[in-house]
Amino acid sequence: MTLAHDSKTQDAGRRTQDGNASHNLINGKNTSPGLSVENVHFAYGSIKALNGVNLVAQPGKIHCVMGRNGVGKTTLMRTIMGVYRASAGSVVMHGIPIDRLDAPRRAKNGLALVPQGREIFPKLTVEENLRVGLEARTDRRRKIDEEVYEFFPILKQFLKRMGGDLSGGQQQQLAIARALQGAPQVLLLDEPTEGIQPNIIQLIGDVLQKLAHQRGMTVVLVEQYLDFVKEIGDTFAIMNRGRVVAEGTTDQLHDELISQHLSV
Ligand code: ATP
Repeated sequence: MTLAHDSKTQDAGRRTQDGNASHNLINGKNTSPGLSVENVHFAYGSIKALNGVNLVAQPGKIHCVMGRNGVGKTTLMRTIMGVYRASAGSVVMHGIPIDRLDAPRRAKNGLALVPQGREIFPKLTVEENLRVGLEARTDRRRKIDEEVYEFFPILKQFLKRMGGDLSGGQQQQLAIARALQGAPQVLLLDEPTEGIQPNIIQLIGDVLQKLAHQRGMTVVLVEQYLDFVKEIGDTFAIMNRGRVVAEGTTDQLHDELISQHLSV
């Protein structure tokens, strides 16, 4: 079970460049949030997409980021991953700021993004797509972690099939499996249920719950599908105009909040 989060080995193998950050240590154990986003700003030219986002996601929990179209959810995920650079504010993983790291370095430090639209390589086989995910590893492991076939058995069956020949649901499973090859401690997913049939949504939900609740992974899930959030999410943040405007545990997602910030 090599996808499991082994904090001792991963901490040793994944020192970030920013050595001066403070950890919260209790009995030598790092109690910092898996991920915190502190007053992050980002603009596309004159379009301000993120206006001071604050967000905290804990290890062992599924944190759902919600909000109507265009409020900044995808921009936030890309900024956390380092695809875009925040113009102000900080992204902190396990107590250590990662702002100076580019996206590949962030991946090597235990962060992974399953992007909106999946972005699998259509001209590579399933197996080759999975191998791309191994690039994020720091332990020189070059063998595909076969545990992903237990999560998503269809991938083993289709190893030699081209990514572009898979259905949308199969591609989504591949995108998650590819992200897991880097053995991330913090997993970001941008609307993994978009356009996916219900039985695959259920399967994805089961896998995310295992990763968070059994393995202690920090899962941050951008999601518009409210029932899915209520079923598998632990905590939520609702965004509006580039800011978090409401947050809490998913049992606090009441009708007023939904009609104010989520209903069309
Ligand atoms: P959706 O649910 O539709 O994916 P979102 O909440 O993820 O929306 P973003 O895609 O992050 O929102 O967009 C935030 C704002 O930034 C929107 O006003 C959007 O039009 C704008 N935006 C997004 N991408 C670009 C871009 N490449 N260039 C310019 N503006 C952009």
